[in-house]
Amino acid sequence: MDFKKKKFLIVLIAPSGGGKSTICKKILAQRDDVEYSISFTTRSPRGKEKNGVDYFFIDEKIFKDKIKNNEFIEYAKVHNHWYGTSSKIIKDIINKDKYAILDIDIQGAEKVKLQNIDMISIFLIPPSNKVLTERLKSRKTETDEQIAIRLNDAKIEISKCNDFDYLVVNEDLDKAVYDVNQIINSEQFKSFRYVNALKDYYCED
Ligand code: 5GP
Repeated sequence: MDFKKKKFLIVLIAPSGGGKSTICKKILAQRDDVEYSISFTTRSPRGKEKNGVDYFFIDEKIFKDKIKNNEFIEYAKVHNHWYGTSSKIIKDIINKDKYAILDIDIQGAEKVKLQNIDMISIFLIPPSNKVLTERLKSRKTETDEQIAIRLNDAKIEISKCNDFDYLVVNEDLDKAVYDVNQIINSEQFKSFRYVNALKDYYCED
């Protein structure tokens, strides 16, 4: 017998090369109580990305209409493209009694934090600047110039690492995934998240 607990948003934040999407995918593969919040974006699909799986790929006109219609809980321009989190998608996940996990940029995370939404924010930090530099270089997906831009952006993002609820050092991937799981597991027991503990307690069924 488990008492009913309210589900919340899990917002992952990290600089480029911080391992955010890898950790997010691992969490999703390990738990069926967590669902990915698929964002809308104006950028084009890359590689094997699929519409409705990785993102909803839309044009700028539709994106702007969605802003006007208040369809996003947050949106931001990242690397020259628009990205937004849909309120409806989040609501649907929570209504399914699942945690919604968001892989969004730091501006988006800051905007979600300002709202009256039950959420936890987890900043994933590489173990050192040296390691981050090596990781970005070894991906071989960016030019030297792009790496320099990302490192500069990372410096600004990392300066805000203490602004979020949790800070997890991502040195060993499995350990970082374990730590994020531990955070989710303990957050769920916060007393205010029990919908009606006494009713559940006195319920005879
Ligand atoms: P990418 O284009 O590489 O998939 O993502 C670029 C950046 O945009 C990443 O930091 C990713 O987390 C962020 N991002 C993805 N979806 C959203 C969103 O809905 N809102 C915001 N603010 N950022 C997003």
